[in-house]
Amino acid sequence: MADLGNTETARRLYETAGALADIFGARAAAHEAAGTFPYENYDDLRRSGYHLATVPEKYGGWGANVADVTRAQARLGEGCASTALVVAMQLVQVARIRRAGWPQARLDGVLSGIVEKGYLINTTASEPATGSPSRGGIPTTTATPTGEGYEITGRKTYSTGAPVLHYFIVSAAIPGPEGAKPQVSNFLVERDQPGVSIETTWNSLSLRLCGNDDVVLERVRLDKAALLSSAQKATPQDVAYSAAWGLPVAAVYFGIGRAASKYAAQYARDRKPNSLDKSIAELAHIQEKAGRMELALLEAENTLFAVADLAASGEADRNPSRMTALVGAAKLLATNRAMEAIDLAMRIAGSASLSMETPLQRYYRDARAGLGNPPLDDVSTLNLGKLALGLL
Ligand SMILES: Cc1cc2nc3c(=O)[nH]c(=O)nc-3n(C[C@H](O)[C@H](O)[C@H](O)COP(=O)(O)OP(=O)(O)OC[C@H]3O[C@@H](n4cnc5c(N)ncnc54)[C@H](O)[C@@H]3O)c2cc1C
Repeated sequence: MADLGNTETARRLYETAGALADIFGARAAAHEAAGTFPYENYDDLRRSGYHLATVPEKYGGWGANVADVTRAQARLGEGCASTALVVAMQLVQVARIRRAGWPQARLDGVLSGIVEKGYLINTTASEPATGSPSRGGIPTTTATPTGEGYEITGRKTYSTGAPVLHYFIVSAAIPGPEGAKPQVSNFLVERDQPGVSIETTWNSLSLRLCGNDDVVLERVRLDKAALLSSAQKATPQDVAYSAAWGLPVAAVYFGIGRAASKYAAQYARDRKPNSLDKSIAELAHIQEKAGRMELALLEAENTLFAVADLAASGEADRNPSRMTALVGAAKLLATNRAMEAIDLAMRIAGSASLSMETPLQRYYRDARAGLGNPPLDDVSTLNLGKLALGLL
């Protein structure tokens, strides 16, 4: 089980995540059935202050570290994983922008928007042409220099949380001189700027409530200060720090697996078919499945939290390549072991697990989405192999 850590912040964060998870989880089925976005979750989120977890204390946030947030996000993921993913993006992006080298005035402005107005933020990098930005594709979204700044045109897909985001960190290509490669940079775009619109495109098997919609940018005019940083300038330490902040995203998927195991355990204790004079929990084959389910989750949990603790202790700066490789391992285990645990939970519950009246089918669908979030499994195993071979 999750070790809450020693600090008061970690304890409060975990408890807040637990309270929100229970509220959000209770709403998920109705929203899925109605095809509606759970806007009220975000009112509760803002009231709780949880969306400020990674905002530094001097700005009015919690100042939580990556280990605190990873544990809390695992608990949040047990409720409505879609909402937990949107929240993960917010917490992670705030942690990343703290170290992104933004101009101070820009950083202050964004953090005060988040604290004072409850704004949410995410990166919108994916496009139909690039696929996963983690593969290095050049955006087809362009940022054309104008006298005062830039004009941005393009379409971003999979923009998690689009219905409730205010700030979009948009990757775009600034055309180079004739024959030269374009420079890929990030720009800050706000929802209420002329030319920004959201197209509701997300109609997916998994995470149906996370609003992974398209952000359409039509000749959006930005001033020079909207240029945040150039992707090419990051040091290995910056890259590892950013990678480590992927752990709270991975934690959401682990949380789905944990929720499935809790549901299956309760189900097994309650279910007494009339072929038996006891619950199915007393049967050896159910106990064996439960044992394998727990084994999968323990492997994922222990690696996830150990790597998160290592990240919180500063491993990204000490040993960036190792940090990045271990994050990949933790994410791979969190996602894949959660899927294994959910499969076993469904075998324990039997055919009732297929019913739309139980959450197991939602867990089954939601967990698969983790495979599409970076780092992707092939990249993680390759990096881990290099680490094992002493090549990193
Ligand atoms: C739940 C969820 C949330 C997301 N949130 C966000 C978000 O907030 N912001 C955002 O910008 N994006 C987000 N994404 C998008 C995500 O990062 C990817 O862009 C998206 O999943 C498409 O990636 P893909 O690998 O399937 O694409 P494709 O490029 O279509 O890949 C298809 C297949 O080919 C393989 N492949 C493609 N290119 C290469 C290559 N160069 N080398 C090796 N193999 C390759 C892939 O591994 C995959 O198996 C999200 C996706 C999901 C599922």
